[in-house]
Amino acid sequence: MTDMKGISRRSFLTGSAVLGGAAALAGLAGCSPAPKDTSMAETGSATEEDWLGEAPALTEADCDNVVDADVVVIGSAVAGSLSAFGALENGAKVVMLERNKIFHYGGNQGSFLNSEFQKQSGKPTYDPKEIVYHIVGNTANRCDIRQWRVWADRSGELVDTLIEKVLTPAGIPFTCSPAPDEPELWLNRVFDINVVLGDPTKDNYKEFLSGMHAYLADNGADIRYNTKAEVLVQDEAGRVTGVIATAEDGSRTLFKAAKGVIVCTGSYAGNAAMVKKFQQEKVAKLLEEGNVYTMYMDTEDLSSAEPMDDGIGHRMMCWAGAEMEGGPHGFLGWPNGGHIGCPNLEVDQAGRRYMNEALFPVNQVQQVVSAASMPSGAFTWEISSTEDRLMPCFIGIDPNVLDAIAKSGTGVYQADTLEELAELIDVDPATFTATIERYNEMCEKGVDEDFMKSSEYLIPVKNPPFYAFNEKWVFVCSIAGVHTNDKFQVLNADHEVIPGLFAAGNTVGRRFGYAYESSGMGMSNSQAMVAGYVAGETAAKA
Ligand SMILES: Cc1cc2nc3c(=O)[nH]c(=O)nc-3n(C[C@H](O)[C@H](O)[C@H](O)COP(=O)(O)OP(=O)(O)OC[C@H]3O[C@@H](n4cnc5c(N)ncnc54)[C@H](O)[C@@H]3O)c2cc1C
Repeated sequence: MTDMKGISRRSFLTGSAVLGGAAALAGLAGCSPAPKDTSMAETGSATEEDWLGEAPALTEADCDNVVDADVVVIGSAVAGSLSAFGALENGAKVVMLERNKIFHYGGNQGSFLNSEFQKQSGKPTYDPKEIVYHIVGNTANRCDIRQWRVWADRSGELVDTLIEKVLTPAGIPFTCSPAPDEPELWLNRVFDINVVLGDPTKDNYKEFLSGMHAYLADNGADIRYNTKAEVLVQDEAGRVTGVIATAEDGSRTLFKAAKGVIVCTGSYAGNAAMVKKFQQEKVAKLLEEGNVYTMYMDTEDLSSAEPMDDGIGHRMMCWAGAEMEGGPHGFLGWPNGGHIGCPNLEVDQAGRRYMNEALFPVNQVQQVVSAASMPSGAFTWEISSTEDRLMPCFIGIDPNVLDAIAKSGTGVYQADTLEELAELIDVDPATFTATIERYNEMCEKGVDEDFMKSSEYLIPVKNPPFYAFNEKWVFVCSIAGVHTNDKFQVLNADHEVIPGLFAAGNTVGRRFGYAYESSGMGMSNSQAMVAGYVAGETAAKA
């Protein structure tokens, strides 16, 4: 068996970094070749039984200040900013709390349906039912169809409003992505519904969310950074009436919410007990190897060593009577290393082929964790003799550029024989060569008799030099939470509305089922935005 320590002892191929290509790759794929790992917030000793813990016994008497608002939003990233926007646009007095010095920002892919902007850009108009039915299938029938109906009905109008009110006045770019060059590469089928908000080469929402925060502040929202929400406040009837939060200087404030509190605190992947409780065992293992939640954030934007993804928002809502979606929960993960988005042969650490490599990378991760052979160390090998013919890439990057990026990464091995390559990567040579012999036979026939990969992607591994690219699978964020209705009002165990409590983004349950949904690129961001907007609007109108 190989482990990462074993790899680091070996000599790597090196090459010059192709930064423009890397940025474009990251921008288009929502992936990055060089993640920053963050460790889990709690130790592996945490047990799933104690995931909920006790609500802090804080009351108004423990607070130094009281602030009155109509709507209080907890978390200020995609879901939080759009919640505040929805509430503000509907006349509410809004406070938004952010525990960090700046909002979390991830990738800038978003999928929106039938907006005027997309129509004017020549994009197709889709039947919402066609896409929602497709999403239902992709979520293994676990999603709440009503949530996606709301997304289908309102995402187009929302992106048009954002373009008109926020992006255009602030000079923030927005573009429709080109249609995928190789749509047949994505077994799950992708619709051409992607709009990038912000500079498409940057692959993050920093610019867009900075624009949102400026708009919100200019229009009267009270945004408190470095202010961490600790516990919700309820009246005797169970209505959520506010939240107690602690500022950087240790002072506590009770933020009273006459109309509602919207919890938008994002992923819980930094909480080991919650991960144990709600994620599959192998997914939890993957997470131990690499949680890349803050991978796109600049170091100077992270104000404290405390992870932002400790699941406090989920727990606050459960302390107030909410019910979590049953496990196993969904997560977003992807590979780092190799030719991301190119369907070259993949083998596991035993040297066996384990999937159809033409799956979209965020879906490939599901194959990795569900295959019996998922290794400790969460990495696999992409094998090719890339000098023969470069594989096309589903995101339309020039294969030569992509090849240069792949070869400049770490974990790249080259050998003149397959046996030598197997030795280099600590894979059993007999299994490895038998796998490649079988693969080459199928390539010659033009039929993948094992995993049904399309014939155009069957390129034999025949002529030296042979390459092995280490693919490290990483956990990006959890994508599940509490039960809500289609106004994103949080429900209790009897599926009744908890008055005054809303959720949006990655605190909401039944968005995705087991896995990230990829009918378009960026389904999570746009669904989080619509949920936030609708929650804010509903709270403001209460
Ligand atoms: C690196 C990365 C790249 C991604 N790329 C894409 C993509 O391209 N397309 C796509 O659709 N999806 C993408 N995703 C997934 C998607 O971004 C998330 O699902 C989406 O951002 C969810 O947004 P959110 O607002 O719910 O949560 P988050 O973005 O996680 O934000 C939560 C916010 O709440 C704050 N917070 C947490 N606790 C508290 C507290 N107690 N008090 C106050 N504030 C608190 C945090 O500091 C943070 O700012 C990506 C995710 C990551 C991590």
